[in-house]
Amino acid sequence: MTKQIHVGKVPVGGGAPVSIQSMTNTRTDDVQATLKQIRTLAAAGCDIIRVAVPDLAAARAVAKIKEESPLPVVVDIHFDYKLALEAIAAGADKVRINPGNIGGEDRVKAVADACRQRGIPIRIGVNGGSLEKDILAKYGHVCPEAMVESAFGHIRLLNKFDFDDICVSLKSSSVPITMKAYQLMSRESNYPLHIGVTEAGTVRMGTLKSAVGIGGLLALGVGDTMRVSLSADPVEEVYAARDILKAAGIRKDGAELVSCPTCGRTRIDLISLANEVEQRLKTVDKPITVAVMGCVVNGPGEASAADCGIAGGVGEGLLFKKGQIIKKVPQDQLVDELFRLIETL
Ligand code: SF4
Repeated sequence: MTKQIHVGKVPVGGGAPVSIQSMTNTRTDDVQATLKQIRTLAAAGCDIIRVAVPDLAAARAVAKIKEESPLPVVVDIHFDYKLALEAIAAGADKVRINPGNIGGEDRVKAVADACRQRGIPIRIGVNGGSLEKDILAKYGHVCPEAMVESAFGHIRLLNKFDFDDICVSLKSSSVPITMKAYQLMSRESNYPLHIGVTEAGTVRMGTLKSAVGIGGLLALGVGDTMRVSLSADPVEEVYAARDILKAAGIRKDGAELVSCPTCGRTRIDLISLANEVEQRLKTVDKPITVAVMGCVVNGPGEASAADCGIAGGVGEGLLFKKGQIIKKVPQDQLVDELFRLIETL
């Protein structure tokens, strides 16, 4: 089992539930816009939020963001240790920084000391696209072993200053490299792992790559917190993360839709029906499975494992519960009847 760290009140690792992270894409120094986005992400199910800190104005804005943020705030720092110190003083709950990139051990010590004093962890974020030159020269190309070696280099620097409140990410835009790197790291250390496939792409392909990479790792028991990276509104990242956790059988909150693939027996517009039900289920937080099936002959039986569902026929359909037919319903009332039944469950 990995060791546990705390990001604000959220435990990560050590058997804690896998938490969902996302990152704001507003200007961090626009405090109101950033807070508005954080609230939206929190409402969608995000557990931990990261903000970019590219300059002093952003680092200072962290204090105001922290005053009202419903989520723990991680600051993302590249290269500049002074920005890290400023953001830590402003109340950050975690720092994402690679100590090997900040230019000198006195700077690493300053950041490690500041984090220790405030009791906040550091995430070492190895990215396949920005490995150290010497490591790349040694391996000749980006590979899982090179990424893990990079992570241990950063870890050793922090350990030198007696700092071990660490979590690690090893992201690549290649799913196989990402998966192997995390598996290797989990065999060689017990640091909690922040998992994700980086630069995964737009909503469709990015979600698929993340589902394979993150979902595959979770199925192997690897991963303590996750971010789905999408070129999209960050709220899509949170929806995708929730769905991956649900599909992997890790989180059971919220309703799950099952719907049939349609076939030559289908006589209703099942695709629209399934989309409508899926949309309305977003606000149902009961741990139930709801089926939308394309025919009355096979539908209720095929979906007998679902808690309830509908099956479409010609002009009318069936409402069923655990595979047992409750009643016939005119087609235009099917969805409303289904949601009345869901309310009673
Ligand atoms: Fe075909 Fe009916 Fe099965 Fe849907 S439920 S795939 S319509 S047989």
